[in-house]
Amino acid sequence: MLQVRRDLCLGCGLCVQSCPRRAISLLWGQAEIDPYRCIPCCLCRQVCPQGAIIELVPISGDELQTTVTTLKQRVEDLIASIEKLRC
Ligand code: SF4
Ligand code: SF4
Repeated sequence: MLQVRRDLCLGCGLCVQSCPRRAISLLWGQAEIDPYRCIPCCLCRQVCPQGAIIELVPISGDELQTTVTTLKQRVEDLIASIEKLRC
């Protein structure tokens, strides 16, 4: 599934022109993808000068839990390192 990053999209409309399925429209100056029309062929990703169209990769609950645990450990390690620098 593709999604447009609103922080990057400039509303240039190049993706709209490239889409063979007419799955993209500009809404309030930004691209919007209709997931029911998208095949997805990724042509829009290739033409976007901003790299604003990204693919969302679904992950399992276990993968998410592992990622959260790893990030939490890294944050704790960073805090410990900062505390050591203060001493
Ligand atoms: S090509 Fe990229 S920057 Fe232009 S409207 Fe589409 S998503 Fe936005
Ligand atoms: S992936 Fe293809 S079908 Fe889907 S929005 Fe982009 S250009 Fe259109």
